[in-house]
Parts: sequence; C-alpha cells; structure tokens
Amino acid sequence: LDRKDEFGDLAASLNRMAERFRSDNEEIKKLYEKQRQFFADITHEIRNPLHTIAGSLEMLQMQSLDPGKRDHYLQTAMRQTERINRLFKDLLTLQRYDSDSYFIEKKTFDLSEIIRHVVELYRDEARLKGLSLRYDEAPHTVHADPDKIEQVIENLVSNAVKYTAEGEIGIVVDEYEDSVSVAIRDTGIGISPEHLERLFDRFYRTDKARSRDKGGTGLGLAVVKSILNAHGTDIRVKSKPGEGSEFSFDLSRG
Ligand code: ADP
Repeated sequence: LDRKDEFGDLAASLNRMAERFRSDNEEIKKLYEKQRQFFADITHEIRNPLHTIAGSLEMLQMQSLDPGKRDHYLQTAMRQTERINRLFKDLLTLQRYDSDSYFIEKKTFDLSEIIRHVVELYRDEARLKGLSLRYDEAPHTVHADPDKIEQVIENLVSNAVKYTAEGEIGIVVDEYEDSVSVAIRDTGIGISPEHLERLFDRFYRTDKARSRDKGGTGLGLAVVKSILNAHGTDIRVKSKPGEGSEFSFDLSRG
C-alpha cells in the first residue's frame, strides 16, 4: 500500500511539473510574439520617414529646382528627421523602464510650475488652431519626480492639441486628503470604446495615418503609463467619440 501511495505522489508531482512547464512555455511564446511584433513595428516606423527623407534629398539634388520647392523638400526632410529623433527618444525612455537601472527621483514640488511650463510650450500651437488652453494656476504641492511628471503632462497635452480641431483643452487639478488628481480634458475627436483597452500599448493608434500625419510616434501613451506605474500609480481615460477625452492620474501630496 505504501508503494502505491508513493507512486501516486510521484505521478501527481510529475503532473504538476508538466502543467507548470506548459504554462511557462505559453508565457515565453507570448513574450516572444510581443517582442517580434515590437521589432517589426520599430522597423516599419523608421523605414517610412527614411523613405521620405531619401525622396526629398533626391529632389534637392536637382539643379533646376525652384526656391519654393527646395524649401518644401528641406522642410519635409527636417520634419521626418525630427520624427525619427522623437522615436528614438521615446524608445530609450521605455527601454530604461524595462531594465532595472531606471529609477525615479522623488521630490516635493509645486505642480503648477510644471503645468505652466507645459502650457507655454503648447500655447502657440493651440492658438494657431484656435483652441483655448485653460489651466489651474493655484499651487499644489506633490511628491513625485518633477522631470518625469512634466513628460507625462507634456505627452497628454500634446495629444489633446493634436486630436482636437475646435473647442478647448483644460488642465484641472483637484486636491484630496492625501492625493492630488490631474486631468487633461479636450473637446476633440474622442476614442471609441473598443480602442480603450489597447490604447497604452506600444505603437497602438486608433488611426495610423492620422497619427503619422501629426508626427506621432505611437509611443507617447506607453511612456505615460510606464512613468506613472514607476510612481506606483496609473493612468485613467474616459472618452466619447466626437465629444472629447479626459486622461487623468493621481499623485501623492507633498
Ligand atoms: P501618437 O504618437 O500616435 O499620438 P500616443 O501613444 O500618444 O501616440 O497615442 C496613441 C493613440 O491614442 C493615438 O494615435 C490616438 O489614436 C489616440 N489618442 C491619444 N490621445 C488622444 C486624444 N486626446 N484624443 C483622441 N485620441 C487620442
């Protein structure tokens, strides 16, 4: 009887090992597929602007090109170069978060200074599009990494300006007992519910052509999520197609 028990135990533990092996294998397969897709996306994202740059340079080589056209091709080549630059900057940021070497340097600071800074960066672009940019000017002390939070707010405001044709963009701050919430609202094109779940995935866009046309890298929201996760918090989104979107997050009070 003892031997029978022993065999039973052995069989059970072999079964458990086989099950663990199967599920580890599935995980590895999923990770591998994710990596493969990521590299395919990067290749694609770099090839497109490089193609345009090569085309522009070829045109610029022509002796007979009139000054207006020359200007146009120069601008195009410069814009696409900037796009590749942004892409590498975002990729580096994400890669740092993937490795352990990255760390957040928290300080106590006034959030309104950062908001004012971001608003200054986007004021002209918003004005050119006829959008009003409203923001909370009152001081709000938080405990976080100021540079990283500035990048979060900048990415969200940049998207709000990019995806809004008319109306207004608002940056609203609310204080609670031990947290501060920040919301970036727009009256733009909005996002339909089926996209919300994957919105923060690398290179996910609801409309690839529109995003590329606006110079987007498809990494802005992935960067936002990584930074907030490293702070122990997360990004929320509420949106209605045709009405607008609201992206918000909480930070610890300073
Ligand atoms: P992108 O560089 O394409 O803007 P992001 O990661 O910043 O990349 O955003 C991913 C996608 O989410 C965008 O391509 C767009 O489809 C959608 N999106 C982001 N912000 C907004 C917004 N404020 N309004 C509507 N759509 C948005």
